[in-house]
Amino acid sequence: MRNTPVLGTAGALCLSLALASGAGAATVYTGDVIQGKRVISQLDVADLEPGKKHSFYFQGVQMGTGQHWYLPVVVAKGAKPGKRILLISGVHGDEVSPVDAVQRAMAQLDPAQMSGTVTAVYDVSRPAKEGVTRMWPIAQWGGQLIDLNRVWPGNEAGGNAPTRHAGLVFNRLFKPNADYALDFHTAATGGDFAAFIFAKLSKPEIRSMALLYPIEQIKSDPGYAGTLETSLVDAGIPALTIEIGGPRYFDKRMIPMFVEGTMNVLKHHKVIDGPMGRTSKEAGTFFGDAFHTVRATHGGFLELRVDLRSKVAAGQVVAVQRNSFGEIVREYKTEVAGEISTLQRDAMIEPGTRVVQVLFDSPDAKCDGDGCGEDGPDYVE
Ligand SMILES: [Zn+2]
Repeated sequence: MRNTPVLGTAGALCLSLALASGAGAATVYTGDVIQGKRVISQLDVADLEPGKKHSFYFQGVQMGTGQHWYLPVVVAKGAKPGKRILLISGVHGDEVSPVDAVQRAMAQLDPAQMSGTVTAVYDVSRPAKEGVTRMWPIAQWGGQLIDLNRVWPGNEAGGNAPTRHAGLVFNRLFKPNADYALDFHTAATGGDFAAFIFAKLSKPEIRSMALLYPIEQIKSDPGYAGTLETSLVDAGIPALTIEIGGPRYFDKRMIPMFVEGTMNVLKHHKVIDGPMGRTSKEAGTFFGDAFHTVRATHGGFLELRVDLRSKVAAGQVVAVQRNSFGEIVREYKTEVAGEISTLQRDAMIEPGTRVVQVLFDSPDAKCDGDGCGEDGPDYVE
């Protein structure tokens, strides 16, 4: 099979114009094949054969060696036209339940029976995945760690490799192929998260997707600059940030909730048929529009007095902290009533570390609508 289209001058001009405009550009095959998968540098699901699953490596940014980072992409292209849904995992490298959840959702799809397209993307922050770390390590400036979920929508001409990588992925893979997008995460290493979704609930198309998940907590959230969710929403693509518990392991209790919710979303958009599964209604999901973050004031060893989803009252002790002599140096209390959404699993912590975050319904009118957002160190995904 010939992978590289041969183009005349007019064709090449056409292609470069299409690339410049993003949407509607043809899939570009580099001609490389890696581990049996064809390599692409631009995806347009419109030109893939319907009724089939297609697997590719998407060519991301180069490393210092001149070699590229590649992202696994699987496209389930329905026999009939319809909505295009994007499932994203691996923006952070220590978060693995998203991989399992997306793989399980994709395994349930039969393109011959589908109307529309589901595209799954894995290992978005490939060097972070290799190190099982949140951050992307770069060599520039003597070595730095970059959080890929703070640089979206990226910039193909940006000042470091992950920013350029995000630009390539956003412009040539995500944006031209998504009517709706779901970005799957977990807590970062050292922490833990309930079965949770961040969603801009004032937008009806986002709200209706979030409510289809039979999960534990949903936060009405205005979004955070540089995150993929916010960049997708700003580009007109309704999106959710999904949190499947803790990092580094498959959460076998939570993953099925998110697979069921994702299949519900596909049914909602008429990509697949079938009866709707359980939703937030049946699950009794707890809703809030603000986080109260309890942050460590001292170093020492943390003993939690609550767990994820614990219902807490204002003034309740959520943790105590001891020094190396075993003396209590601090009691940590929540100032608000609500449910515990995130907590610190690492027992030995530095001052400034988040101890817990409490999801609550803020009486502050400014949190009505899309909720109140967090400051940089308090936004956690
Ligand atoms: Zn994450």
